Amino acid sequence: MQKQTLCPCESGQALSDCCLPLIENRAAATTAEQLMRSRYTAYVLKNERYLLQSWHPDTRPQQLDLKNDTTQWRKLHIIEGDKNHVSFVAMFDSGRAGDKQHYALSEKSEFIYEPEIQYLKGENVQTMTLTKNMPCPCQSGKKFKRCCEKYFV
Ligand SMILES: [Zn+2]
Ligand SMILES: [Zn+2]
Repeated sequence: MQKQTLCPCESGQALSDCCLPLIENRAAATTAEQLMRSRYTAYVLKNERYLLQSWHPDTRPQQLDLKNDTTQWRKLHIIEGDKNHVSFVAMFDSGRAGDKQHYALSEKSEFIYEPEIQYLKGENVQTMTLTKNMPCPCQSGKKFKRCCEKYFV
């Protein structure tokens, strides 16, 4: 399998067998984790339509303006989840070329079923700046520079 066909959600599956059918409305997510993964992949692909479609109308923004967003998503790490929640860390960089900072966003997302599953809101949302010697936010126990820094190319 070629690297570029791997799904950005880190499932280890091909994009065409994983999140793409959901994003293209050829399949529907059945679990909170599946929807969360597909929404992460939609952020990577800058697919605003799918992000808004999978967002509950009560909390959905008017638009996301992803075209002008310099965020580059690098790594998703899911910590735990249940029927209605998924806790995860998503690592990204942002800023102009040559002046990029590395960050980790952590969030506990809440999902509801009515009847199709939708993203409702994020709780405990925190963004931190990543430094080489800090414990990696993926909770591997290694330093960031010996662990997930490799995803920032
Ligand atoms: Zn995927
Ligand atoms: Zn790591």
